[in-house]
Amino acid sequence: MASLGRHIIVEYYNCSSEILNDVVHIEKSMEGAAEDAGATIINSTFHHFSPYGVSGVVVIQESHLAIHTWPEYGYASVDIFTCGDTVNPWVAYQILKEKFEAGHGSAVELLRGEKALLKERDFDIKAMRDEKSSEEGSPIRTRDVWFTERDDKIALSLKHDGKLYDVQSDFQKVEVYKTQAYGNLLTLDGMVMTSEKDEYVYHEMITHIPTLTHPKPKRALVIGGGDGGTARELLRHDGYDEVVMVEIDDKVIEACKEHLPGIASAFDNPKLNLIVDDGIKYVKDAADGSFDIVIVDSTDPVGPAEGLFTVEFYKEVYRILSDDGIMVTQSESPRFNSKVFREIYQVYRSIFGQDQVHCYLAYIPTYPTGMWSFSYSSKGKAHPLKDFNAEESKAFAKKHGLKYYNEGIHQAAFALPSFVAEMIS
Ligand code: SAM
Repeated sequence: MASLGRHIIVEYYNCSSEILNDVVHIEKSMEGAAEDAGATIINSTFHHFSPYGVSGVVVIQESHLAIHTWPEYGYASVDIFTCGDTVNPWVAYQILKEKFEAGHGSAVELLRGEKALLKERDFDIKAMRDEKSSEEGSPIRTRDVWFTERDDKIALSLKHDGKLYDVQSDFQKVEVYKTQAYGNLLTLDGMVMTSEKDEYVYHEMITHIPTLTHPKPKRALVIGGGDGGTARELLRHDGYDEVVMVEIDDKVIEACKEHLPGIASAFDNPKLNLIVDDGIKYVKDAADGSFDIVIVDSTDPVGPAEGLFTVEFYKEVYRILSDDGIMVTQSESPRFNSKVFREIYQVYRSIFGQDQVHCYLAYIPTYPTGMWSFSYSSKGKAHPLKDFNAEESKAFAKKHGLKYYNEGIHQAAFALPSFVAEMIS
C-alpha cells in the first residue's frame, strides 16, 4: 500500500432519528460493519447522551471506527480508519448506510501516512514488543486488550494477551482467549463458556450431585459439553459403563483439545462414546429408559441450543430416562436470565411433577453475575438430599481432590436465597 492507512470521513444524511438515538443498534451495527469489512475487534465503547445522541468507538486491530449522531437532524458523522490492506473500509461505509437507513451519504477517502513522505527508522522491534505477545497468540502491540461479554445493562471484561483460536463454525463463533486472570477462556458467539481457572465449579456441580444420589448409575448421556469437562467429571465414577456425549459442533471439541487440555482430558477415555450430532435428534432417536443420568450441558437458549429449552425436548428426555433416572441441566442465572429461569422450572415441573424438581446454585466468577443455577429433576424416587450420603460424598471429594464439590456444598447448594425460591415457587 502507498500509505500506512486509509481514512474515510463519512456523512450520513436523512437517517432514521429513532435509529440514531438507539445506542444498542448503533453499537451492533458498527461492530457488525467492522467484522464484515474484515476487521478484528479489540474493544468498543458507546455512550448515549441525554436527551439524545450517541457517540462511540470500535477499536479494531487495524485501527478504529468512530461515530457521533444528531438524531434531531437525522445526521451522523462517521470515521472509518484502517491500516494495512486486509480491511475494506468501503464495505463498512455501505453497511452502515443501510443500517442507519440513510437517505444519502457522502464520503471522502484520505490516505494517511503516505510512505513516500516517511522514512522507516532502524530500531529494535523486540524492545517495542513485550515478549509474551510475540510468542503466543496473535501479536498484539499493547497489553491493554479486553474481552467483554455484555448485554445492554451488564458487562464482564477480562484482560487478555491475544486470541488462540478464532473459527466461525456452522453453528457459532468459536473463540479461545489467553486471559491474564483466568487462563484460557472458551467463548461461543461472544459468551463465556468455560475458563481454565474456574471451570471446576460448573463441572463438579453438574455431575457429582446426580451421580452420588442415583442408586446405581451405569449409563449417562451428556448433551452438549463440547469442552469435555462434564465427561471428565462423570468418568471419575467407576460405576459408569458408558458415558455418551452428543456435541453438535466439532470445532468446540477441536478448540478445547488444543487450548484447554486440562478440561478436554477425557476424550480418549474408552468409556466415552463421543457423537458429533444434534442432541435434540439424538434424544428423539434414543430408546425408552436407556439412560440413568441425562445432563444437558448446553449454551444459552439461542442458536443451536434453543431447542434444548423446550417442552418437546424434555418430554423426550423423560422418556429415555430409566425408572429412577435423573435429569440435570444448567438452568441459567436467576439474575441475568430471570425470564428463562422462571419459565424453565414450570416446564420441568409440568413433565417430572411438582415435587420432583429441585434447584441448586453455584458461584462461577466468569459467568454473568457469578450466580449460576442447575436443575435436578427426578423421574423416580431419587432425591438430591434424602438420598445423599455425606460420608460417601466426603470420601469421593477427597479421593479425587475436588476443588469445589464436597459434602457441605452438596447440601448448601439447595438452600436457595428467598428471592430465588420465590422466582420458582
Ligand atoms: N458451561 C457452558 C454454559 O453453561 O454456558 C456450556 C458449555 S458447553 C461448551 C455447551 C455446548 O453445547 C457447546 O459446545 C455447544 O456447541 C453445544 N450445543 C448447543 N446446542 C446443541 C445441540 N442442539 N446439540 C448438541 N450440542 C449443542
